[in-house]
Amino acid sequence: MTRRSSALLLLLISAIAMGVSRPRGMADVLDVRHWSYPDYTRVVVELSRPVETEVRHLASDPSANKSERLYLDLPGIWVGRDYPTGIPVGDGLLRGVRLGQNTLRTARVVIDVENYDHHRLLVLTHPNRLVIDVYGERKAGDRRGGPGVRRDDRLPLDARRVRTVIVDPGHGGSDPGAIGLGGLREKDVTLRLSKLLTRKLRSMGFQVVATRETDRFVSLEERTAIAEGSKGDVFISLHANAAPRRSVQGIETYYPDENHERHNLGIAMRENGVTRDQLDDLQRTLSKWRIEEISPSSKRLASLVQRELAREMPSKYGKIQDLGAKKGPFYVLFLSNMPAILVEAGFLTNKSDAKRLRNGDYLNSVATQIAAGLERYRDTGSKLAQRNPQ
Ligand SMILES: [Zn+2]
Repeated sequence: MTRRSSALLLLLISAIAMGVSRPRGMADVLDVRHWSYPDYTRVVVELSRPVETEVRHLASDPSANKSERLYLDLPGIWVGRDYPTGIPVGDGLLRGVRLGQNTLRTARVVIDVENYDHHRLLVLTHPNRLVIDVYGERKAGDRRGGPGVRRDDRLPLDARRVRTVIVDPGHGGSDPGAIGLGGLREKDVTLRLSKLLTRKLRSMGFQVVATRETDRFVSLEERTAIAEGSKGDVFISLHANAAPRRSVQGIETYYPDENHERHNLGIAMRENGVTRDQLDDLQRTLSKWRIEEISPSSKRLASLVQRELAREMPSKYGKIQDLGAKKGPFYVLFLSNMPAILVEAGFLTNKSDAKRLRNGDYLNSVATQIAAGLERYRDTGSKLAQRNPQ
């Protein structure tokens, strides 16, 4: 902080102390949450309005008795004196989070760090959130994030052993997802399928972590925080489709790719819960992330799963339309640093698909085929590793 801005801050603090009221038209910080994991700590700041910002890093300054910290300025946000004591974290990586009014029209979030390596900022909407992931080695003896399994990060993604599978039943709670024929709700179908898939994968020796096990609302950042915090190796999001035309049916599997096909935007809007304009923003944000790294593995996983789903499904369920493995801009697929796919298990709005999706035996077959695709991905991945020893 410059001398001038410290002076300004002092002035401001005294102004606030004297009871200067909030300027008109300001928005609020609605919530601040944090999660600690072995490799990183995630801070989520929820705002009542979208804000453009960036994270800045300041080295420690012993002469001023200031420790190393990150900060973000939030224009148009008013926190006043809502957080007088800050939010302690104390997990060996972050000391805590402080919020204050830096100027009358700009709030500042300060993250005091202990052992900073790098960070990642995600700007999300619906609700408006800033997600700040701070990476660094946690101080010894304080591993609140839990022991976890150390993944061999030097191996290419494709060759890493698949131990832990994150199963993500789409929607839930206040978000029913698509509503189909006879009121069939996507969130119920995905939860049922998720339970069957979890059981199947566990019987095959995989570790499984589900992002929800009941009918509850789970935000996208919470889903991915669960995935990363559980040291997931792959992420499988389960959904069911809807279309205005009732004749449209079939199964499709999506993987994240920056250059997704334009005609997939409709489904992306529904699954992300955002409008077309917001999706353009999303695309700009997505291009900054580590898509190049996760996309090829995700594509391979999507192709293998889709092949099992569409071609190897028991014929007793009739002909199932193979809509293929496709690129798609889904938040949930981009937020985690692991290969990720999104399965659309059928159209709730199609008579034949809806009938199948109500059938427990059919859903169990879907689970079995997804698991078979994942097994092929794992087995071919270990062959890739043998061919390219590190
Ligand atoms: Zn969905």
